[in-house]
Amino acid sequence: MKKIYLDNAASTMVNSEVLNEMLPYFTEKYGNSNSLHEFGRTANAGLDLARERIAKAINCQSNEIYFTSGATESNNWAIKGIAESYMDKGKHIIVSCIEHPSIIEPCKYLEKHGFKVTYLPVDKNGIVSLADLLHNIDKETILVSIMSANNEMGTIQHLKAIAQTTKEKGVLFHTDATQGIGAFNIDVQELGVDMLTISGHKIGGPKGIGALYIKNGIGIEPLLHGGHQERLRRGGTSNVPGAVGLGKAVEVATRDITINAQKLKKIRDYFIKQVLDRIEYTKLNGHPIQRLANNANISFGMIEGESIMLMLDLEGISVSTGSACSLGVVEPSNILLAMGLSENLAKGAVRFTFSKNITKSDVDYVVEKLEAIVKKLRSYSPLSKSKFDEFKNEKKGE
Ligand code: PMP
Repeated sequence: MKKIYLDNAASTMVNSEVLNEMLPYFTEKYGNSNSLHEFGRTANAGLDLARERIAKAINCQSNEIYFTSGATESNNWAIKGIAESYMDKGKHIIVSCIEHPSIIEPCKYLEKHGFKVTYLPVDKNGIVSLADLLHNIDKETILVSIMSANNEMGTIQHLKAIAQTTKEKGVLFHTDATQGIGAFNIDVQELGVDMLTISGHKIGGPKGIGALYIKNGIGIEPLLHGGHQERLRRGGTSNVPGAVGLGKAVEVATRDITINAQKLKKIRDYFIKQVLDRIEYTKLNGHPIQRLANNANISFGMIEGESIMLMLDLEGISVSTGSACSLGVVEPSNILLAMGLSENLAKGAVRFTFSKNITKSDVDYVVEKLEAIVKKLRSYSPLSKSKFDEFKNEKKGE
């Protein structure tokens, strides 16, 4: 059976340039980068090169890059580390309500320990309002964390304006750029970002490796206390092959941004048009233009996204939904609800995230299968007139 992978926001194939770069660090250059002998020095040189590559890609100093086990750790570190080292100044943090759980959950944890967290709302396209941000910063605020681009519906935030606002107010700004790196140019100096999260496996790198950019001069408490690794800020034997892979992945993804974005946008837009034109009661979620080039998040009215996902899987097509299944009940995505979608439309959302390998004929195949699946699922549950009206009204209000 033909297999089509449209879940690149969940994870990507390791790029061959990246894999080739990593392999010697498993078989020949396998020393501990902390060791002083030749094997150790060779491994350490790999780490240095990786740091330099990332620093070059985002325009910072290489000693401002700290390797972690992935975006989850980087995000936890940014939130908890700043909370701990700045708590004497204030105990207020601002994030958006559409952040990844690796930002939301550390915030909830801090709330149990006396911190106050503001979860900024978003508009119908998923954008955070600057006026809202400004209004919520007070003298207790120590950190603002707003993601560069959303993993579910692809909306890209106004990072530069957010950074300017936080700078004027003397508050640190962290951004989770897990989905942004390699999708658009990120220059931390130009943007004015203080901390930035990166993950390997979203950009053609390996899983289990990430980085946190921390601008020099920012005092941050370590998350993992241990050995002297990462300039005393992150204990644990360095994942040298992973870091080497991350460095190369960031270099390649950044180098190829323009060409990849053009290609992805073309195929993604073709897909969106086909779906919206050919399948009734469908709606594109997220910002129509200011969105990741590889992301199409579409709601199919009156059906559950989970059912579509499972039936596409039977046809060899991998997609995902933002819904969470708890105790056998499908809960709609809180990101889509935050954007004002009705429960019906939020439950019917499916996320299709493309790679540069997807062709027009792949898209035609997927749309054909999708059309048949939607028809079949809708035929199982006769649609009530009120549901149709609800859908039409919601579309009118767009
Ligand atoms: N942030 C965002 C925006 C993400 O999309 C993800 C992965 N879904 C993460 C953080 C967590 O990444 P990791 O798997 O590297 O921990």
